[in-house]
Amino acid sequence: MRSATLPLLLLLASAALAQVTPGRRAAMKADLACEVDAMKKQIQVMVDSVFSFGELGFQEEETSKYLTGILEKEGFTIERGAAGIPTAWVASWGSGKPVIALGSDIDCIPQASQKPAVAWHEPMIEGAPGHGEGHNSGVPLNIAAALAVKKVMMREKLSGTIRLWPGVAEEQLGTKAYYVRAGMFKDVDIVLFAHVASSFGAEYGPVGGTGMVSVEYRFNGETAHSAGAPWRGRSALDAVELMNVGWNYRREHLRVGHRSHYVITNGGDQPNVVPRNAAVWYYFREADYPHVMDLWKIGDQMAQGAALMTGTTFDSRVLGAAWPGFFSKPVAEAMTENIKKVGMPVWSEADQTMAKAVQRELKQPEKGLSLKVAELRAPKTDDDDQAASIGPMGGESDDIGDISWNVPTIVLRYPANISGTPDTIGRTPLRWPRRSRIKV
Ligand SMILES: [Zn+2]
Repeated sequence: MRSATLPLLLLLASAALAQVTPGRRAAMKADLACEVDAMKKQIQVMVDSVFSFGELGFQEEETSKYLTGILEKEGFTIERGAAGIPTAWVASWGSGKPVIALGSDIDCIPQASQKPAVAWHEPMIEGAPGHGEGHNSGVPLNIAAALAVKKVMMREKLSGTIRLWPGVAEEQLGTKAYYVRAGMFKDVDIVLFAHVASSFGAEYGPVGGTGMVSVEYRFNGETAHSAGAPWRGRSALDAVELMNVGWNYRREHLRVGHRSHYVITNGGDQPNVVPRNAAVWYYFREADYPHVMDLWKIGDQMAQGAALMTGTTFDSRVLGAAWPGFFSKPVAEAMTENIKKVGMPVWSEADQTMAKAVQRELKQPEKGLSLKVAELRAPKTDDDDQAASIGPMGGESDDIGDISWNVPTIVLRYPANISGTPDTIGRTPLRWPRRSRIKV
């Protein structure tokens, strides 16, 4: 954990330490490394505790209670229900400039329950949610960074404000745009976001993910007895199915880089009752705003067509959105320098054996855990002809993008999972490395 935490806190410290000489700053960074080492056990407990809660988006009750409890004891002021979202919060310590906001996601994934340190799929509770993406580790990492920096700031009488905030319901891309709208980052100078990865690095500019809008289409028809008087019915489920059929035919003619998927959230009650109501939930993902809007428009057209074919009506509602990310170059460069100083964790033989076992189980190349830090990734450019014609090759979206267009932001990718694992299927969480080889 120390390795993963350090670049973040070193950057956090760099901002706070702008007032001191370079030599003194280097000494303080070394102090910070010791502070993190001293918290090794506490970090492990936090990571495991959040893992054990395994709460879905908007239901992160125990997780938020636990994390804010720790911060409160450490003297942070907690604002609960931030942006009107019950499980969101902001924890603040210190005063004056700079204001540095540390964020990471806390929600988990449906049906991803998994026993830790087991290489095959074995849920703790069948069907229960779980931290399949590793969102259990990010806020503990931020807390470790914040507490270490706080200690040094107090000792050195440095001014500055540390804020921590959680990414609630990131899997539904449900909150970060609301955070921005509520003014959560109005006085913030830098947002340092942390996300679990199999690599260790940062990036800047447009990073090749997708933007997204999440829309639920709700159809209304007429119910009837499916056998007794089916001619009286107008099936809302038929409309859902026809919309999906239409979308899947159209899919062939969309840019190859686009991503779209759906689940039926309401498919009716039982077969002998013509469904009066039915609903389908779509994610429309594309490289940029105009293309996301194009997809959404096509979705609306499919819904209109399906309603016409079935004699039903529909409405739709937006459930979430994410802007494509655009990250700060100077902050990413500073972060990368800190990452290089820290280096990769020293994985034990047991760590590597475990990683390779997971990769074998998932029929992935048995590469084990990464040994090298990632180079600072160059941004994707607009004049990349191939990218312009076929769309993004990275498929995922993250609503940190919404924040990145409002405040200088970067994402620290810290190495705490295994390459080759699908995010949403029972990823086996790694134990944190016991020793790092930091020299700062
Ligand atoms: Zn995530």
